[in-house]
Amino acid sequence: MIDVAVIGAGPNGLAAAAVAARAGLNVQVYEANETIGGAARTQSLDGSQAVFDLGSAVHPMALESQAMRELGVHEQVDFIVPELSFAHVIDERTAYAYKDLERTVQELGGDDGKAYQKLLAPLVEQIDGLSETLLNPLLKIPTHPLTLGTFAVSALGGMALKDLVSSKYERAAALYSGCAAHVAGGSRGPANAGAGLFLAATAHAKGWPIPRGGSQAIADALAAQATAHGAQIHTGVRVEHIDELAAQNILFDTSAEEAAKLSAGHLSDQLSSAMSATRRSPGSCLVHFVLSEPVPWTDPVLATAGTVHLGGTAAQVGKAERAATRKGSAKPFLIVSQPTQFDDSRAPAGQHVIWAYCHVPLNSSVNMRQEIQAMIQRAAPGFSETIRETHVVNAHELERQNSALVGGDLSGGTMDLLGSIKRPRFSLDPWYLQSKGLYLVSSAAPPGPSVHGMGGFLGAKAMLKREFGIKKWNRTR
Ligand SMILES: Cc1cc2nc3c(=O)[nH]c(=O)nc-3n(C[C@H](O)[C@H](O)[C@H](O)COP(=O)(O)OP(=O)(O)OC[C@H]3O[C@@H](n4cnc5c(N)ncnc54)[C@H](O)[C@@H]3O)c2cc1C
Repeated sequence: MIDVAVIGAGPNGLAAAAVAARAGLNVQVYEANETIGGAARTQSLDGSQAVFDLGSAVHPMALESQAMRELGVHEQVDFIVPELSFAHVIDERTAYAYKDLERTVQELGGDDGKAYQKLLAPLVEQIDGLSETLLNPLLKIPTHPLTLGTFAVSALGGMALKDLVSSKYERAAALYSGCAAHVAGGSRGPANAGAGLFLAATAHAKGWPIPRGGSQAIADALAAQATAHGAQIHTGVRVEHIDELAAQNILFDTSAEEAAKLSAGHLSDQLSSAMSATRRSPGSCLVHFVLSEPVPWTDPVLATAGTVHLGGTAAQVGKAERAATRKGSAKPFLIVSQPTQFDDSRAPAGQHVIWAYCHVPLNSSVNMRQEIQAMIQRAAPGFSETIRETHVVNAHELERQNSALVGGDLSGGTMDLLGSIKRPRFSLDPWYLQSKGLYLVSSAAPPGPSVHGMGGFLGAKAMLKREFGIKKWNRTR
């Protein structure tokens, strides 16, 4: 009988495996795909000579994460941090979010600069406390209550800036709305405003890092930590039911729906039904381009940005995001990552890769290549002539690549206020599935989506404490 089986080798599964292995347990990881990393994988597609981030590309939460710090990822991975974290193309105007908040405020200028500074400066100053608070379950008694108070007030300010007074502070509102739109759904609620604020604050605290070699470098560093302490990883193995596994404890790095299915007969009917009916955010359609040269942006400053947002004013971004939940939008909000501006390891010499995605209805098989290409072309005339390869991954295909991305939803279930705290149930120990030895540790559990590994880290620690009475997980290094 093995001590711990982990189903899924995404960042959370690997972080969980590393914690359990460092505590001295016998850990076996089972991954359905042939390679590890889940939605943090980097690989070739369709025989291309370039490699692509299949999911995550830019990793602010990895820098903020206690799991990544304590599991050695910060030391193992070469995080490239562009000076210009992100830029937002409004029309012929652009707004820039530099790592340096002061420079950002100065370049925004006037009332826009003041509004942006007022919103973000207090959070940037308190970023460590904020990260600790938000990368833990929201129901936990906060270790930084004053920071949480500042954050709550700022979230109200953010909602006002994005939805009420965006025409007065057009550039500041556009910058911020782009961050809020990373959280799919275009919701006007406080959770969306808060998530956007946190993301914007990280842009000015430590920046938005790009791992050299791609997101795979993060998964590989976590796997190295786990295997160095004896964990074994089995790829190409899809678990169909937990009864197949002779394991005392099982950690699910899967969707909530799949965890319920895999543990049929072991969970209470109530929890199983709730997990099977997880509310979902919209899906995404992702397009990878290989280019013969960098994107020929009209505004040359855009070439220095790690991430470019395209989608117009805050009002236009909100409208596009709301449309994405229902029927899709001909002018969607677009997130573009251009890693080869900073890392030439991804494509043959002289060539470039970019990754661009927009939200679409859940489980849609709509191909947004034309719309995405047209939007980039508007900000970069001549773009189409630079394209050598195009690889489209629609929402449906995202789930085929990784069953945790149900319907192409990147977030493991809706991240509105309710979805953030009932994940999958209201509890101070939300990872525990109320059945001996069973824990949900993926992005479907707190603290939710992004490559921070905190679901796995905290879920595994909860398992060690409850099942083994182990409080010191890091006995070995
Ligand atoms: C297109 C896209 C863009 C993104 N962009 C970013 C970004 O820029 N920055 C960022 O921080 N985050 C980003 N994210 C989100 C981030 O990648 C995820 O939140 C994160 O990977 C979640 O980690 P996880 O370990 O919970 O799950 P996953 O990474 O999804 O891994 C789950 C793993 O479990 C495996 N699995 C599932 N069921 C079984 C089974 N029955 N048997 C065996 N194995 C199984 C899957 O194959 C998969 O490998 C993006 C995601 C996508 C898809």
